[in-house]
Amino acid sequence: MIKVGILELQGDFELHHNILQELGYASFSVKDCTDLENLDGLILPGGESTTMSLLIDSFNLRKSILDFSKENPILGTCAGLILMARAIEDESKVNPLGILDIEVSRNAYGRQIMSRKENITIELDSKTFDMEVTLIRAPKILKINKSINVIAEIDNSPAAVFDGRHMGLSFHPELNGVTFFHEMLFSSSNILNFKNSESINAA
Ligand code: GLN
Repeated sequence: MIKVGILELQGDFELHHNILQELGYASFSVKDCTDLENLDGLILPGGESTTMSLLIDSFNLRKSILDFSKENPILGTCAGLILMARAIEDESKVNPLGILDIEVSRNAYGRQIMSRKENITIELDSKTFDMEVTLIRAPKILKINKSINVIAEIDNSPAAVFDGRHMGLSFHPELNGVTFFHEMLFSSSNILNFKNSESINAA
């Protein structure tokens, strides 16, 4: 059975368990580095990236997450995407992990009161998937390395990106019960590929 951990230092982790269970994957809570052992993948949830960044260091998780990222898939949603970025515009309170070679701007889709549902369309393997997702004080992806795939856009900006092993979403799929991204990243055929391919270096 595929085993996926969810970083549970702060934020919106509960609904990711439901999505993973709906897909038939085993879900685990990650609070310290030993929790990462034997997992096939990891989710960095939404929440407050400044707080999570501080907690990652106070719980000594930075190196373990970076080591894990070299061989395993990681999904970051909203604040999780911010943490995965290489750089954050005008920001000194978050020390990002640099797992995805992108630059982001925090809160660029507006404040809490501007939270909204958004319909996105994804074209994959010549099929089209429509789904509704939620933006809450969401980060905008400003720059991406050209090797990174854009899976979905919002307002003509990349909102879902994938480098082949790591996926970052500006929005929350779990608030709308959307299983598409978790399944795309953590499907058993992908997990097998990751295990058989060489590890990559985190940026
Ligand atoms: N604005 C938050 C931050 O910068 C992210 C919000 C969210 O995860 N929904 O950390």
